[in-house]
Amino acid sequence: MHELALCLGILTTIEKQAEQHGFSQVRTVRLNIGMLAPVASEALRNCFEIASQGTMAAGAVLAIERIPARGWCATCATPVTVQDYFEACPRCGRPELITTGGDELSIAELEVD
Ligand SMILES: [Zn+2]
Repeated sequence: MHELALCLGILTTIEKQAEQHGFSQVRTVRLNIGMLAPVASEALRNCFEIASQGTMAAGAVLAIERIPARGWCATCATPVTVQDYFEACPRCGRPELITTGGDELSIAELEVD
């Protein structure tokens, strides 16, 4: 998995935000992660705890929200909300959903001091 790379990316973003907004301690990092992103929330939390040691985000809580993906059915063209890659269409039952997005990861909010 690439949780470490993600954590380092998050920390870099936090440092840039800190330069712009002049805070020195992060309490909570709210992340929006697409339901289809290949990221394990627990692994990400553990990784962040280690990667943030010695930074202004040390001891910060990662609050992770999984965002459902949107998509549509290739067979009957019904728009669907996708929770899983292998889901079937709720209308016609065929497992041919085309997803749009759902694998994004972004910082929704930083709670800082
Ligand atoms: Zn369908």
